[in-house]
Amino acid sequence: MTTTPKLHAKTTSDLPYNSKAITPCFSPLSPDAVPQNTPGFWAILQGQTLLLTTTSGTPELPHGQLPEGCLPEAEPVGIGLWQGESLRAVRIAIDNALPPGFEVLPFFGPDLSLDGRLTTLAGRAAQILHWERRNRFCSVCGGETSRIPKTWGKRCNLCKEIHFPHIHPCVIVLVKRGDEVLLIRKAGSVVGRFSPVAGFVDFGESLEECVQREVREEAGLNVTNIRYLGSQNWPFPSQQMIGFLADYVDGEPTPDGVEVIEAHWLKGDTIPATSGGSRSIARWMIETYAIQV
Ligand SMILES: [Zn+2]
Repeated sequence: MTTTPKLHAKTTSDLPYNSKAITPCFSPLSPDAVPQNTPGFWAILQGQTLLLTTTSGTPELPHGQLPEGCLPEAEPVGIGLWQGESLRAVRIAIDNALPPGFEVLPFFGPDLSLDGRLTTLAGRAAQILHWERRNRFCSVCGGETSRIPKTWGKRCNLCKEIHFPHIHPCVIVLVKRGDEVLLIRKAGSVVGRFSPVAGFVDFGESLEECVQREVREEAGLNVTNIRYLGSQNWPFPSQQMIGFLADYVDGEPTPDGVEVIEAHWLKGDTIPATSGGSRSIARWMIETYAIQV
């Protein structure tokens, strides 16, 4: 059985994918501000893995020319400086054979062989490349867009509409009843792997209202005393996970059988080691407020 190693994050700001993990190696810059025509580093993504050189014995970002045999799916995008040098991000196809002397390591999922720094950098690159790929054309009129200098924004060449990156707020809540917490299994999740209730903020909702609605919809419970715990950037593809703790009021766990398959009160050792998923605020919340109490 696959287990999830402990995150060892004291607070949510120490979690992977948040900027702190790549400070001070990385200085974010808009593409027009990244020095061109200089050798630099590459963040080369293949699916949810990062391409690394293995020649020195320690996996490192490729440096210099784009490694021979890597065929970019789109024009490389400068995303900042890595150790003071230009850093460009690019995607290659899943079936792009790896050049000799390179390997890929996952930046998502249970395999944690990629360190927190490179995991976070790969997540940042993935989030930016997702924005770039989805916004080559205007969502208002379909015209081609151009970059707005010094920002990540795009301006439509035809209707002049301005578009800026979309980060989607999503609440995640650990509901407590004494020393138990409510965990659910969503449709499509592996049997025996549970998570706190989570969902996207809807039109007109405060974060607290979103927490109450999601818990009601996904588990049939009412909650109160909603407290903010912290947040995590979640680049799959572009969420801001906002974590809360809430106290149970009433109701029986009643999964709808469609979106949510199981909902249980669990505590301590009864929580499967894989619950919450690796590298996530969900796992951090479970470790901090359920397993260690
Ligand atoms: Zn337009």
